[in-house]
Amino acid sequence: MRTHYSKELNPSMNGQKVKVAGWANDIRLLGNIAFINLRDRDGYIQLTFPKSKYPAFDQLKNITKESVLSAEGILKESNQAKNGFEILPERVEILSKSETPLPLDFSGKIQSEMETRLNSRFMDLRNPKVAAVFKVRDSLLSGIHTFMDEQGFIEVQTPKIVAAAAEGGATLFPVKYFEQQAYLTQSPQLFKQILMSSGLDRVYEIAPAFRAEKSNTTRHLSEFTSFDFELAFIDSMDDVLEMMENLITNTLKYVNANAKEQLDLLEIELKIPKTPFTRITFQETQKLLEKEGKTIVNDVDTEAEKMLGEIMAKKGSEFYFITHFPSEEKPFYIMENGEYCYSFDLDYKGEEMSSGGQREHRYPELVERIKKQGLKPKDFEFYLNAFKYGMPPHGGMGLGVERLVEKVLCLPNVREAVLFPRDRDRLVP
Ligand code: ATP
Ligand code: MG
Repeated sequence: MRTHYSKELNPSMNGQKVKVAGWANDIRLLGNIAFINLRDRDGYIQLTFPKSKYPAFDQLKNITKESVLSAEGILKESNQAKNGFEILPERVEILSKSETPLPLDFSGKIQSEMETRLNSRFMDLRNPKVAAVFKVRDSLLSGIHTFMDEQGFIEVQTPKIVAAAAEGGATLFPVKYFEQQAYLTQSPQLFKQILMSSGLDRVYEIAPAFRAEKSNTTRHLSEFTSFDFELAFIDSMDDVLEMMENLITNTLKYVNANAKEQLDLLEIELKIPKTPFTRITFQETQKLLEKEGKTIVNDVDTEAEKMLGEIMAKKGSEFYFITHFPSEEKPFYIMENGEYCYSFDLDYKGEEMSSGGQREHRYPELVERIKKQGLKPKDFEFYLNAFKYGMPPHGGMGLGVERLVEKVLCLPNVREAVLFPRDRDRLVP
């Protein structure tokens, strides 16, 4: 239906016949001339209709805002038009007429409530700035795929309907699975670990994960995209940290190189962090926060995360690792060393992006940790079996893709980074 997208047109094509298609973004009917500002995926095109040259001039008044049109005509260089050219259509076809009034003013001139925007997400996405978020997200994922591929990881897909919890029972969504009780997966953790004993010793997955988060926050979704990798034959957790920081810097460089236009539109100057990222232990974090009057016991709560973000920003670190958390605070699969364990969180501008660490690969120790956390080894037989017949030392991490997009683009809410967010109150659209 089109010969060119808006982006592919320019004044030097003066005199050429072209066919364009898109939405009627703006319509201005004057006595002897009419203008339609047509919007397509990439931008805007001015269609100009002098009454004397366009026989069906009177029918233009039937076109409503946001109707879908295709127009064929001659491109003409023009100083008055925004892009330096306009199209003088010979023929316009209304492919789909839009109803009025529109459910949403998506122009950005009026600030619409997020609720209203999400209810009419299809229309919200017609705002180029909203669409740009998803182009950046696409680029970020491409960057991740590229890096993982270069590092010799293979992409895998593990089950989303599962029998056991990886991250504790509180946030499980139950599913009736024929005669059995099943759950939606919270994380691919147990499966990617099982794969470490298979010989596929570098795997990654980018897939949905589900958590029944009880409270409504700006950083929790019921369904998020979890990017996980697992890496075998590591000497220590440091191998995972290094992989992680190279992954982040390479991915952000990729976004800078491939989504420049969208970053500019969103007025984002994406800084590439220097490696190595700052590493602070949980104990050091406690001390730093104590100086600011904030006491943390076992975990870095949301307020503490934010405060730490400010402290680190003053030191010039946007990305930093918190390492060596107290053993009881982290899931059973993490390797412990008495009081603390070989786990880390990667935080970015005061928010947790990722958790990871070295895993317990020794069967007896793993069984002990499961018991210590009040869980039954019997429930994890399918997982534990993989540790009995040759399991290499390994580690890995899980990262929330939406949180990374949120912080890269300085969005106020993680929901902005999902097309159709799911939270406690939202199941539609
Ligand atoms: P938080 O403490 O912030 O709730 P978590 O420690 O429970 O997160 P992990 O189990 O460590 O989360 O999951 C790994 C990563 O997955 C997190 O660092 C985060 O980026 C992402 N993630 C976890 N839960 C959610 C959620 N409900 N919505 C969006 N992203 C999430
Ligand atoms: Mg975590």
